[in-house]
Amino acid sequence: MIELRNVSKVYPNATKGLNGINLSFGEGEFIAVVGLSGAGKSTLLRSINRLHDITEGDILIGGKSITTASGKELRLIRRNIGMIFQSFNLVKRSSVLRNVLAGRVGYHSTLRTILGRFPKEDMNLAFEALDRVNIVEKAYARADELSGGQQQRVAIARVLAQEAKIILADEPVASLDPLTTKQVMDDLKKINQELGITTIVNLHFIDLAREYATRIVGLRAGEVVFDGPVSEATDEK
Ligand code: ADP
Ligand code: ADP
Repeated sequence: MIELRNVSKVYPNATKGLNGINLSFGEGEFIAVVGLSGAGKSTLLRSINRLHDITEGDILIGGKSITTASGKELRLIRRNIGMIFQSFNLVKRSSVLRNVLAGRVGYHSTLRTILGRFPKEDMNLAFEALDRVNIVEKAYARADELSGGQQQRVAIARVLAQEAKIILADEPVASLDPLTTKQVMDDLKKINQELGITTIVNLHFIDLAREYATRIVGLRAGEVVFDGPVSEATDEK
């Protein structure tokens, strides 16, 4: 489903973000990417969705290269990929519903999305998504009125409304307290299991990775230093 072939990313200031990465992720996997700050976790996720161009190598999504894709082709690939960030990335002054409907933008003409009128089916998808993360009652609240955990669940609902096949979550719980962390991780796990969404989550803490993931990828200085089932991941790694 996702394949990285000899991927390197060198930033304009010559910092190496990733160095010769080879990885392949199967459909429905729940992968935790762990490593110290600066290990390359974020660079890895941003490369998969091509939020930046890689310097070397190739990345295939469902057999198609995202490295060389352009225009319509790139949009079609990206439709399948939902991103979740540490900082939620919601439109703060918009309603929760409108934030979730933003997941539908890739399915419509630019004009329609500028005018902000989404078809009934999209509304249904949005409410279904909010229901799945137990936050329907907040549909008409302003996004910034919600707690951090609720905002992250809105972000999850947005990728559900997007009907993404892949979720890339970059430290989704880094700014949340332990209880909220558990709720958000539970939601990610639930949709992975119920909908079979391939999920890659960057995590700071190995304990969380062990609890939720089925596979752990360890990065250090832009290189893969561990890749295996949770049962084989020890603390030093
Ligand atoms: P992690 O997510 O594991 O903390 P990152 O992927 O953010 O690691 O960073 C990997 C390396 O790339 C680090 O050395 C970091 O300083 C560097 N880096 C990340 N983003 C940039 C950038 N925009 N410009 C230059 N260097 C960067
Ligand atoms: P209002 O439009 O007066 O803010 P509504 O209850 O109609 O209140 O809508 C609440 C939120 O949902 C608003 O952000 C609104 O723009 C959005 N919304 C409602 N219906 C639609 C729709 N069909 N397509 C897109 N957004 C909608």
